[in-house]
Amino acid sequence: MTINTDRIRPDEGRFAFVGGTYVESTGDAVVQRRSPVDGRELPGIRSCTPGDVDKAVQAARRAFEAKDWRGKTADEKKKILFRFTDLLQKHSAELALRDVLSMGKPIRDCLNNDIPLAIQCIRWYAEAMDKMYDACAPPHPGAIATITREPIGVVAGITPWNFPMENVAWKIGPALAAGNSLILKPAEQATFSALFLGKLAQEAGIPDGVLNILPGRGDVTGKALALHPDVDGVFFTGSTATGKDILTYAGRSNMKRVAIESGGKSAFLILKDCRHLDEAAQALAKNIFFNQGQICSAPSRLIVESSVQQEVLEKLLRLIPAYQPSNPLEEATTSGAMVDHPHLEGVLGYISAGRKEGGRLLVGGDRVEPVKGGAYMTPAIFTGVKNDMRIAREEIFGPVLSVLTVKDEQGAVETSNASPFGLAAAVWCDDINRAHRVARALRAGTIHINCYGEDDITAPFGGFKQSGNGHKEKSLDALDAYSEKKTTWLKLRED
Ligand code: ADP
Repeated sequence: MTINTDRIRPDEGRFAFVGGTYVESTGDAVVQRRSPVDGRELPGIRSCTPGDVDKAVQAARRAFEAKDWRGKTADEKKKILFRFTDLLQKHSAELALRDVLSMGKPIRDCLNNDIPLAIQCIRWYAEAMDKMYDACAPPHPGAIATITREPIGVVAGITPWNFPMENVAWKIGPALAAGNSLILKPAEQATFSALFLGKLAQEAGIPDGVLNILPGRGDVTGKALALHPDVDGVFFTGSTATGKDILTYAGRSNMKRVAIESGGKSAFLILKDCRHLDEAAQALAKNIFFNQGQICSAPSRLIVESSVQQEVLEKLLRLIPAYQPSNPLEEATTSGAMVDHPHLEGVLGYISAGRKEGGRLLVGGDRVEPVKGGAYMTPAIFTGVKNDMRIAREEIFGPVLSVLTVKDEQGAVETSNASPFGLAAAVWCDDINRAHRVARALRAGTIHINCYGEDDITAPFGGFKQSGNGHKEKSLDALDAYSEKKTTWLKLRED
């Protein structure tokens, strides 16, 4: 099959979207990548320089001070955001194609998962704007204290590549609903869809400067944004290592607000009294192998009581054929390519490391080429994994499941919690008391009992320990994250 890369114009990556228009970025650090689908060269992406960043910050500040956006009524803003999401829907095929070519996920996932969830997210925040009440402190003799939300000002959203449209929507929705001006720095591996949003924002009527999009390398463009003294907040989703850098940039500059959603090594516990092992195996396979395992909350550690281990492994092995990769541009494909060739090498490096450290590779872990020149691998399962091995401790971000066997409930909890991460976890168990006891003992931001990946815009999402820092994403919590809270005291005079 020939892939049509013509839909991404060769010069698209030279531009940024600033102050309501596409401008050429001035950087000479060009990101040059090959498509993970078939290895062909993608258009280069210029990195916006600190000077470009400064221009975007000025445009965003101008719009903020002029109240071009926050001065509108909720109803006016809602209409504009709804128009924006209608345009997302209308252009979903173009957006999906850009993402598939750039980062290799199946086109059906872009069209049925990523883009609909992005639309739902932005609409949800647009709807929330006039349903959130501010607060009044408990009655106080002689005074009233109101607690009101205000936008923070100019905020930056730095996003990853694994769910390109959903990732940016998680920033756009709450940032704009709270009345801020936003500067988006999309991942290098998912730039073309995000950049396309500029013209949709313009067409929808989002005022100039309220949504700006700056492509570029993280250590150039992202760093300049996070260090900028006139950026009031940085909202980041990505690796734990970069999250730590962002915290230092904020400390070194203006102590801007920081919210970090970062890595994970989530545990999936199957305890011996689980009577639904088929369902458990299906939920595990679906969630560790979905998106080629490139999900921060993927359940990459199966922690299983020894008496049920064999049965669980047999069930998992029967499910493996459904997750073999094929051409992501074909409608029927459910598992696509890894994000790019260098990342594939990194994941294959973990396969070698796991073997060297004594893990038993039960299945998969092979590089394959369902499309010649692409970056594909088969889903892998390691058994006999010990918690001190790299494949048990480090985030692989690929379709690799590490199986750790434990003797009892206490061992399961201790092994789960012995991780630097704490994003999500699951416990499968039919004793309701035991399930709740274990859920309480697990140190993670989202716990699933007899399910996985149950997740909705209405519920906060974020991690404990090195999986996150600061505010959560999603839900009404995110509106607080993107707002300042102001207390105003009014003295009541007696006369
Ligand atoms: P991943 O390993 O998933 O690609 P990264 O943390 O490297 O995660 O990237 C997530 C986002 O952070 C991307 O938009 C990337 O460009 C950006 N980024 C990477 N390094 C930095 C940095 N030093 N400062 C700011 N942003 C960065």
